[in-house]
Amino acid sequence: TTSLLCTRERVRHRMRQQFTGYKKDLPFAYSNEEKITLPNGRISNVYTGLFINNEFVDSVDRKVFETINPATGKVITSERGRLLNKLADLMERDLEELAALETLDNGKPFHSAKTYDLPSAISCYRYFAGWCDKIHGKVIETQHDKFCYTRREPFGVCGAIIPWNYPLEMQAWKMAPALACGNTIVLKPSELTPLTALKVAALCKEAGFPKGVVNVLSGFGPIAGAAIASHMKINKISFTGSTAVGKSILKASADSNLKKVSLELGGKSPNIIFADSDLDQAVKWAHMGIFYDSGQCCCAGSRVYVEDSIYDKFINKFKEHALNIKIGDPFHKDTYQGPQISLQQFNKIMSYIETGKKEGATLLMGGERHGDQGYFIKPTIFTNVNEEMKIMQEEIFGPVVSVSKFKTIEEVIKKAHLTKYGLAAAVFTKDITRAIKISNELKAGTVWVDANTPFGGYKESGIGRELGKYALDQYTQVKTVQINL
Ligand code: NAD
Repeated sequence: TTSLLCTRERVRHRMRQQFTGYKKDLPFAYSNEEKITLPNGRISNVYTGLFINNEFVDSVDRKVFETINPATGKVITSERGRLLNKLADLMERDLEELAALETLDNGKPFHSAKTYDLPSAISCYRYFAGWCDKIHGKVIETQHDKFCYTRREPFGVCGAIIPWNYPLEMQAWKMAPALACGNTIVLKPSELTPLTALKVAALCKEAGFPKGVVNVLSGFGPIAGAAIASHMKINKISFTGSTAVGKSILKASADSNLKKVSLELGGKSPNIIFADSDLDQAVKWAHMGIFYDSGQCCCAGSRVYVEDSIYDKFINKFKEHALNIKIGDPFHKDTYQGPQISLQQFNKIMSYIETGKKEGATLLMGGERHGDQGYFIKPTIFTNVNEEMKIMQEEIFGPVVSVSKFKTIEEVIKKAHLTKYGLAAAVFTKDITRAIKISNELKAGTVWVDANTPFGGYKESGIGRELGKYALDQYTQVKTVQINL
């Protein structure tokens, strides 16, 4: 190293003499720092030469070589990652503003928007920014005289239709992987909550996304949504919403250009609580499972099954917790439960509560409006329910939970499966063997014993998986290339 450093000036001198006709398209300053002008006009100082012992040094043999800007694939790939990270930076900068818009539009507590929805959406953009330069094909061994490989290619234009319950997160779950894989996107937010999608679109522009990469089409489902679903130039659609609309998206694809479809749909998820579980933990999570975000969560644990021997203890604690929920102004710092999204949704939930009463279930608490303005519903618990009841079969999408007892594992698994949905399930037990066995048995896309990604549904809860590396499969198609040698 010492000798290298000592010869540095000598080498520079020779280089000045012999390489004045250096061809690189950037000026070569015969020093180991180059000034490179970037497309946006900024100057980047890049150290060249060799990097030895934490220092940049010139080579002894005074040879230099050109670096060529390929202006294709990899440059754009790293640009994609940079842009997604830049968007995440801007969202961090505007976090309070975005959280406030989300609360105004959706009614969810500001505290939740700020500490859960925003950080989760931001980390989704950062996660997929990291994938941009790691999406590879494979080389496949074939017969002699053939060379075969696959490429992961983007679809081109992707459509995305999202619901109103987690507008920022749903946008991130779709946009981040679609863009990371090299697609462009036409996103339709719910007509009930378009604000943050538009705000994020403005941030995309500020971040420097090229024109046409991110498009937000706010509008009504049967018009704007249906136009996306049947568009001949949209090659892939990712939909999150109700099962009924999801089925219409699948039909529209079949009737148009067979666009590839992934669906994240509704749920009626069971929470199964065994006698050996930590009761306080089980109560806490079962409570959050149904009452978080006013019960407007696709994976809400709306059916709670409790082992017979601890049922009474559980129900007392569960009720006590629910009675302590702070309902009200979503901007108040102590509020846990805000309003339901709309009058229509409020009426739908209230009519399910009436149906439950008529079906013979016991209304343990709640079941009525809270306050005299807005669409607030008190946390509602039904007991004495059975699997035939409508309130045990249909997604209510509100703060309404049905709690029942079980005696054996076989019985509870059978009951857990008695709906058309299969989005999520939770199991509470200290017996890890039992936890694994029951997780294997349950027909649910996610079983919360521990981790929660990737995300998607069994049965009528959806097609495909979002998040994690699995999301990359949703936004690329595999091309096989076979070459005769
Ligand atoms: P929805 O199905 O009514 O609407 C969802 C989106 O589809 C909205 O943007 C809406 O405008 C659009 N839409 C409505 N009709 C359409 C049509 N004919 N063609 C095309 N688009 C149409 O659902 P919602 O009420 O907004 O959301 C609640 C539902 O979403 C619940 O069923 C919930 O379980 C589900 N959801 C699922 C997940 C998941 O990841 N599985 C996440 C959140 C919400």
